[in-house]
Amino acid sequence: MSLAETIPLKLQASIDSIIDGVKPSPWLTDADKSDYIEKIKALLIEKNAVLIAHYYVDDELQALAEATGGYVSDSLDMANFGAQHSAKTLVVCGVRFMGETSKILSPEKTVIMPTLDAECSLDLGCPIDEFSQFCDQYPDHEVVVYANTSVEVKARADWIVTSSNAIQIVTHLMAEGKKIVWGPDKHLGKYIQNKTGADMIMWQGNCVVHDEFKLHELEQLMEKYPDAEVLVHPESPESVIAKADFVGSTKQIIAAGKKSLAETLIIATDHGLFYKMSQVVPNKRLIPAPTGGKSATCKSCAHCPWMAMNTLVNLYEALRDSSNTIEVDEATRQKALIPLDRMLDFSHQQGILTAGDA
Ligand code: SF4
Repeated sequence: MSLAETIPLKLQASIDSIIDGVKPSPWLTDADKSDYIEKIKALLIEKNAVLIAHYYVDDELQALAEATGGYVSDSLDMANFGAQHSAKTLVVCGVRFMGETSKILSPEKTVIMPTLDAECSLDLGCPIDEFSQFCDQYPDHEVVVYANTSVEVKARADWIVTSSNAIQIVTHLMAEGKKIVWGPDKHLGKYIQNKTGADMIMWQGNCVVHDEFKLHELEQLMEKYPDAEVLVHPESPESVIAKADFVGSTKQIIAAGKKSLAETLIIATDHGLFYKMSQVVPNKRLIPAPTGGKSATCKSCAHCPWMAMNTLVNLYEALRDSSNTIEVDEATRQKALIPLDRMLDFSHQQGILTAGDA
C-alpha cells in the first residue's frame, strides 16, 4: 500500500478529534456584538490594520471586513489584496494556511489571525515529511499542490494551484509532456484528471466539509426543484460533481450564480458562501446541497469547524494584544514564493485573475 493510501487514514483520527473538540462561540447579545464591532473598528485604525475575511467565516465578520474597507474573498485573492494594501498589519479571518499565504506574499507586514488553532483538514492531512517522501518516489514528476497546504508543503512544490486555475495549469504541464504528483485533495485531483486526462499520482486528502455532500439526497432535492441549477465546488465527491450544472471555485460559483437564469440555485459548498451569494443574487432562492441523510455524521453541517473558530471576541482580543501573529521561516518562505509566483505569473498571462489581483 502506498503512502498516499495510508497516511490520510492515520490522520483522520486526529482530524476527528479536533472537530469533536471545537468549542462553540461565546453567545453575544446584539448589544455585545455592537460593542465588539465598535472596538474592533477603532483598533483597526489605531493599529493601521485591515481586515481580510474568507467567504466561509461567519456573516458578521464578512460584514465587518466590508464595512471597514477590508475584503472578503477566496484564499489567494485575500493574500493578493493584503499584499497590495497599504496597511502595516493584515488581520486574516480564515484558517491558518491563509495567514501563511498572506505572510509569504507580504513578509514585511504583521499578519494576525483571531486564532491560530483554525486549521484545515487538507493541510492537516498532508504533513510535510510524509508528502515529501511520497514525492521522492516520483522524481520525474512535477509536484503540483493546492493552495490549502502548509508553507512547508508549498516550498516542496513545483507549482501551486487554486480551484480557479488548476485545470489551466495542469493542461499547460500536459502540453509540456509532464507527469504530475498531485496533493492533497483527492476529489479536486480526480475532477482535474477527468477534465484534462493528465497523468496524475494522487495524495488522498479531503476537505471534511465538501466530502460530506450526498448524492442520493441531492438527487431527491433535484427532483423537488427540477428547474434549479446545481453549483458545486470541486472539493466535493465525484458523484456529486457529476450532477452539477456548474463546477468551480467559490468566486466562480458566485459569478455563475449571478449569470444563471434559474430562480433556484442548489449550492454545494460551505454555507458561509451564502452571505455573499445572497448579496449578489438577492431575488434567487438559495438552497444548500444536502450533507445529511441516512449516512449523516455529527460533522454534517456544511460549515467548516475551523472557519467557525473565528469570532468577534477572538478577533478583538488578537487585535488588541497584537497576538496570534503568523511567523514563517524566511528560507522556507522564499522557497514557497517560487511556485506561488510561478502560478501568479501564469494566471496573469492567461487572464485568469481579475484586474484587481496581484
Ligand atoms: S472548508 Fe474544507 S478546505 Fe476549506 S478550510 Fe475548511 S476543511 Fe479546509
